[in-house]
Amino acid sequence: MSKKIIIGNWKLNPITVDEAKTLASKVKHGSQHTVVLCPPTAFLSSVRYPNLGAQDAFWINKGPHTGETSPLQLKSLGISYCIVGHSERRTLGETNEMIREKILAVLNAKMTPVLCVGFGTTMEEDDLEVIDVLRTQLTECLRDVPTGRVIVAYEPVWAISSGNPYATKKMATPEHAEKIAIFIKTKFNIPKVLYGGSITSVNSKEFLDQEHLDGLLVGGASLLPDDFNIIIA
Ligand code: PEP
Repeated sequence: MSKKIIIGNWKLNPITVDEAKTLASKVKHGSQHTVVLCPPTAFLSSVRYPNLGAQDAFWINKGPHTGETSPLQLKSLGISYCIVGHSERRTLGETNEMIREKILAVLNAKMTPVLCVGFGTTMEEDDLEVIDVLRTQLTECLRDVPTGRVIVAYEPVWAISSGNPYATKKMATPEHAEKIAIFIKTKFNIPKVLYGGSITSVNSKEFLDQEHLDGLLVGGASLLPDDFNIIIA
């Protein structure tokens, strides 16, 4: 298997900084693959791990923007990756244009953006319908963006936190994800595509075995060190 990227998105977990440090200390360092942990922003300067990512960033670096986190501030903490456009943020009203601005700001700060797409897809759609939704998202989010350093994570929204990445045997199987990855790479000139949506220690290998899937974005299972270590291994 070629070298893959495995990103753990802790979302709004855990509650205390001590719990966060303990969790990170239990995650093995990737030997074969690149492993990135994305703790909540509040813990980014306390958690120790070779590769750290943020879960979001604002598109402006400095000024009167209460509550925001700037890409340059993240960079100054040694953060190298930043998730952008996660469906849980799109649910709160984040638009493709806002996401585009964020990607540009993250690139300007010399970090790697991990653009999430797949919001708005449904389990009933076939490959062509999914591709239609993704085409709009990718076209708008990547307008005038140099894509050479952009990672895209395909996450069918209905598969996230559902406990089942292939709720029907038709959609979001590893083979479906592989087809989508090929579409994203060829039509949008994206070097690396990840898959995310209820990845566990049981199903991860089937996805990692796909040639055009370059890794995984893992939510829930990244909070379970034993499971996450199996995924990494
Ligand atoms: C995610 O947060 O991007 C995600 C895929 O979550 P989960 O693995 O819990 O479905």
